Amino acid sequence: QRLLNILPKISERLNITESDLKNAINRKIIAHDTYKNQKYILFKKKYRHIERGTILFLNENLDYIMGYPKIRRAMVLDPTLKNYFIDKIAIEEKLDGYNVRIAKINNTEIVAITRGGRICPFTTKKALKFIDTKILNDYPDIMLCGEMIGLNNPYVPYYYPEVDNNINYEGDTSDNSNDIENLGFYIFDIRNKETNKSLTISQKGELLKKYNLPHIQPIDIVNKEEISKIKEIILKLDHEKREGIILKDPDMVINPIKYTTHHTQCSDLSIAFTYMYDLGINFMFSRLVREGYQSIEFNENKEEMEQRAKEIGESILYPMINTIKKVSKNETIREDFEIFMDNEEDLNEFLVYLKKLHIAYVILEKEQINNSIIKIKIGRLYNSTNDKIKSHLNGNLW
Ligand code: ATP
Repeated sequence: QRLLNILPKISERLNITESDLKNAINRKIIAHDTYKNQKYILFKKKYRHIERGTILFLNENLDYIMGYPKIRRAMVLDPTLKNYFIDKIAIEEKLDGYNVRIAKINNTEIVAITRGGRICPFTTKKALKFIDTKILNDYPDIMLCGEMIGLNNPYVPYYYPEVDNNINYEGDTSDNSNDIENLGFYIFDIRNKETNKSLTISQKGELLKKYNLPHIQPIDIVNKEEISKIKEIILKLDHEKREGIILKDPDMVINPIKYTTHHTQCSDLSIAFTYMYDLGINFMFSRLVREGYQSIEFNENKEEMEQRAKEIGESILYPMINTIKKVSKNETIREDFEIFMDNEEDLNEFLVYLKKLHIAYVILEKEQINNSIIKIKIGRLYNSTNDKIKSHLNGNLW
């Protein structure tokens, strides 16, 4: 009801008609949530010009933070890049973690928002630890868009060695880590939090350097015709088991596009088939077609194709067999992650948040590391995978 009362104001603020807003509410595209007693609404999908993950606080100013725009994928580099870009292309590494926007609300408070538009208490606490937020006092209209990476997070737990070693991208020396956890935050875009307008690659680099903030710098800036250089970078990243690249117009006047390595396709498939009835269907087709185009683009000979085929097949079959075996031995299929929290209160706040998102989990271990830090191991349960495999192994038909 309160939402309906302020609908005219929201409509004006977001530049969207009231009837569109009502429609989005009825279709459950708009949801609501609270963070520390502050109510906010969020867009679960892109709707008109409002990006997925946009959140608007029901406060005095109706502060809002636009969602991070979708990055489309090049299926082949040639001729896509020549057609798409204006002139030059800045190549940045695509880090494999989760997308976070950090911004100021109510002129005072700093929040970290996930891609889907939730204020995650874990991410907000860690982001505030890693990032000196002075920049947001000086420029309250911006949002810092970046990737949270490393082993010790609840969403995309992959080990990144540079997070441990205090190594920053392309020689930046700001300290973005601590000794206990493998976790780091790297900024990739500075955008206006309402319009999504982005600083250019060089403005972004200069500002983040000035404030000594951890960020991703271009691996190279090339002419759009120099596709062979981009292919070399892809091969190198693939060899190093890294995720891929994001290609950006240096002036950021057109949207970036992405391209990922063979390694990523395989590792996505192996995750998809570890949790096959939860993730398999959505993941499989898209990853397989990427491999088809990549093989053609890299002009592979018979041997190289065989190698690719073998690796794709293994990424699908081995994890699946392993999962079925585990279930047959009455083991539960779950994805375990370890995170570090400062106190019980923070931990409870995070567990309540997981419940709110309907994420099924079990607590596996909990250990007080020292006076101020708790290490906790949580297992995320994949119920469809567990239940369906059990049912088939018990003789039930497909
Ligand atoms: P979408 O396609 O809607 O962006 P997705 O979940 O399919 O969503 P990904 O395939 O992971 O997204 O690729 C886009 C994401 O890559 C961005 O949302 C961002 O979190 C991440 N990313 C990592 N490194 C960079 C970078 N250097 N520049 C921009 N984004 C990056």
